[in-house]
Amino acid sequence: MYQRIRFDFQQELMNIKKSGLSKEERIILSDQKALIEVSYPKGEEPEDVLNFCANNYLGLANHHDLVKVAKESLDKYGFGLASVRFICGTQDIHVELEDAISKFYETEDTILYSSCFDANGGLFETILGPDDAIITDALNHASIIDGIRLCKAKRFIYDHSDMKYLEKIIQRARLGMDIWEGPGLSKEPKPARNILIATDGVFSMDGDIGRLKEIVELAKKYDALVMVDDSHATGFLGKKGRGAVEYCDVLGEVDIITSTLGKAMGGASGGFTTGRKEIIQMLRQKSRPYLFSNSLAPSIVSAALKAFEIVRESDDLREKLMENTQYFRKKMTEAGFKIIEGIHPIVPIMLGDFENDAMLAQDIAKDLYSEGIYVVGFFFPVVAKGKARIRVQISAAHEREHLDKAIKAFIKIGKKHKVI
Ligand SMILES: *Cc1c(COP(=O)(O)O)cnc(C)c1O
Repeated sequence: MYQRIRFDFQQELMNIKKSGLSKEERIILSDQKALIEVSYPKGEEPEDVLNFCANNYLGLANHHDLVKVAKESLDKYGFGLASVRFICGTQDIHVELEDAISKFYETEDTILYSSCFDANGGLFETILGPDDAIITDALNHASIIDGIRLCKAKRFIYDHSDMKYLEKIIQRARLGMDIWEGPGLSKEPKPARNILIATDGVFSMDGDIGRLKEIVELAKKYDALVMVDDSHATGFLGKKGRGAVEYCDVLGEVDIITSTLGKAMGGASGGFTTGRKEIIQMLRQKSRPYLFSNSLAPSIVSAALKAFEIVRESDDLREKLMENTQYFRKKMTEAGFKIIEGIHPIVPIMLGDFENDAMLAQDIAKDLYSEGIYVVGFFFPVVAKGKARIRVQISAAHEREHLDKAIKAFIKIGKKHKVI
């Protein structure tokens, strides 16, 4: 049997490679930080490069205190739990971390997952059914898309951050009308019972912030729930690091927040859902990735507690990150680069209207790598045609000299490719 399907797979893999969409993994030989040691898979000489493509926004991935706490936790709580939470996989630190997250967000309750992907995967089908509707931004993260797929609620997609469109769609969902014409769709309008609007807090390709204030207003007007995935904001956006939800001044008004521990909060792994008490209780009883997947490892839980403490007790890392981001955005703009405006440490350097912008993005990323700057190019189908870019991610771990080196390299390579 495998012989035949092997051929199909080989064809498909070849097509992926030919279209330039093949994803290769570089091998990092050091811990995760600003200056990392990287080797190619083939065992070439390792090189030191400045890392501008990690989600290590606060530089906590190798933070001394987190590593120390994780080691101590290994000694006290062991390596793993070999159980799911509800059988024999809940330690005091799991409950402590859930409480710490609830306190941080001023929410009623919190539930941990192995990842935010799981948090989103286990959310929608648990709380919504065929009589309900989910309204989702077209650019929402893959895990939201997959979570919604698992749910029997009717699905409506609105153009990215288009509030007029969103309002129209809420009205239609309320009335029970389908937005698509055509066969197979219900003819009888059946008003949705409950409506949930789902959005990313920050969208990862443009670094733009969801229009949460307006979304919450619309939700109030039409009696809908709001869910925000704040993975690219938790810990550093907003005055106290409580994400886009705080930045947009809607703390306490968002019913469900999901996020990750795998980005700014230390970068190991883990995710959570926080919000209304009954919703979290429902998840604890029925959410499949929670019930049927292993408990978060104790060392990660302990270190995450420390990460929340660091974020709670000091603004220093956040301030450094924002200073770094402003500096980089300003210098790059002055140098003539076209950057999608914003305040987020995701800085998309747009390449402009070039015939083969996918190739250009890859060439520029490769040339920058030769200059010791590790960035990634994104192009169709990850972003729209003609919107190819280099996505730079700034971190509090970067020093001014790192930023200056990157800017200098960008100018050199940008000129070479006539981007500036
Ligand atoms: C990174 C990310 C996730 C996935 O988080 P993991 O904890 O790594 O599974 C989910 N949603 C958004 C918006 C993300 O950016």
